[in-house]
Amino acid sequence: MPSSTKYIFVTGGVTSSLGKGIIAASLAKLLQARGYSVTIQKLDPYINVDPGTLNPYEHGECFVTDDGAETDLDLGHYERFLNVSTSKANNVTTGRIYQYVIDKEREGAYLGKTVQVIPHITDEIKRRIKLLGNTGNYDIVITEIGGTVGDIESLPYVEAVRQLKWEPNFDCIVLHLTLVPFLAASGELKTKPTQHSVKQLLESGVQPDILALRTEHKLTQGVKEKVALFCNIAPEAVIQAIDASSIYDVPNLMKAEGLDKVVLDKLSLPHNEEPLLTAWNKVLDKIKNPKHTVNIGLVGKYIELKDSYKSIAEAIIHAGANNETKVNIHWIHSEGVNNDNAAEKLSNLDGILVAPGFGERGIEGKIATIKYAREKQIPFFGICLGMQAAVIEFARNVLNHADSHSTEMEANTTNPVIYLMEEQRAITEKGGTMRLGAYPCKILENSNVFDAYNETNISERHRHRYEFNNKYKEEFETAGMKATGINPDNNLVEIVEIEDHPWFVGVQFHPEYKSTVINPHPLFVNFIKASSLVKEQNMQTASN
Ligand code: GLN
Repeated sequence: MPSSTKYIFVTGGVTSSLGKGIIAASLAKLLQARGYSVTIQKLDPYINVDPGTLNPYEHGECFVTDDGAETDLDLGHYERFLNVSTSKANNVTTGRIYQYVIDKEREGAYLGKTVQVIPHITDEIKRRIKLLGNTGNYDIVITEIGGTVGDIESLPYVEAVRQLKWEPNFDCIVLHLTLVPFLAASGELKTKPTQHSVKQLLESGVQPDILALRTEHKLTQGVKEKVALFCNIAPEAVIQAIDASSIYDVPNLMKAEGLDKVVLDKLSLPHNEEPLLTAWNKVLDKIKNPKHTVNIGLVGKYIELKDSYKSIAEAIIHAGANNETKVNIHWIHSEGVNNDNAAEKLSNLDGILVAPGFGERGIEGKIATIKYAREKQIPFFGICLGMQAAVIEFARNVLNHADSHSTEMEANTTNPVIYLMEEQRAITEKGGTMRLGAYPCKILENSNVFDAYNETNISERHRHRYEFNNKYKEEFETAGMKATGINPDNNLVEIVEIEDHPWFVGVQFHPEYKSTVINPHPLFVNFIKASSLVKEQNMQTASN
């Protein structure tokens, strides 16, 4: 009996950053549009147990799932493309695999055997790959293997794929993504790196079934045929993956190349209905044909690596499309803003978003930014540390507690308006110990957030240790900063708003993780809407 779930492995060669995650997500989108239930998993070959302890400069943003897993940012792409939630099982690292195997060894579970990479580590990799399929929820599981084939740390994963290809009753194919560089001097596209990369896979005993060739220029049929010949692949299974102006174009480009059909043929699955992508293409059309423009400042301290704010930037694109508005994101380094230069740095903006973050660096710049947004009535959206900074700013400049701070930055402040949550006090380990994942929140009807969500009971994802100090709540509310969202189970303040302002919202959670192409996040949608409105009003005032 063939296994009921089919598997697609996505590997990468030649260089990193070729966009395996986007190719995997685009393929999944096409299969989903044909009626298959699909999920995507990422296997990361590094030794961190999860990316939660990584500095954003290392791999960009850490994405958080509903069930509280801190994961690779590719999971964000999977959710944004598929509009389906992922979970802990969708991201596995070498660190987690080894931790599990070593814990079992300490329990004595291997009964005196020598514990080795093959079979113990590879068996655990295979078990994790099959976990999602075994839920019975998916027709197809796509497993993306991080890194580049040929890396020492990728070897056990490629070996696990080799074993699975030979396993009876396990239906799988391998899609390998490589680069075809263009040499300007000779005016040629070069296939040699692809040939070498496939050889490398073959050395490990894995013959790819499909090749996707990342390229800046259109591939000729001749190039495809040459690659097919040298790499033992049918010409129709050599797919061009050309650079796209938007990542959301890639499903259409892959469809035009017939990737989904080749995949289904190889998995012996039918492909009667053409995927229409109607709703998807409507959004894409709005992204490409905006009617208005708005300028949004994204203020953070990791802006040198924009991937640090991947989900926020994508949520802004979704919300812009929903408003038929092109959003120019102005990336502003929080370390560069202070009360003296705030006007110079921020006055051209129609809306200001202050980003999440950790630690002291850049915090005063965030506070100065928020003071400017509050006083100048510029729509403001604060996320996590951005919300905490808004609370600190209000305490310092409106409540006149000049020494207010978060105990994260200043342990002994006399006005700890943001402080460590009770449940966090005894925790010393850093990995996986924050308040993580989905928590409920009850929102007040007379608020900007209610206007956005249009419901009072919401659930959003969290990733933080510090919280609003309820001791100050009344003082804040009397002075005009209202808690409009509260966790019903423990009374934590999850949302603050300033009444006397066009749109000033700070949220302790991370709404950006739940924004998808088809379901843009309501808070981002209304933030962009408010920014456009204020822009229009300002233009009218100026012309009068
Ligand atoms: N550093 C803050 C905390 O731990 C905010 C975290 C964040 O912005 N994700 O509470």
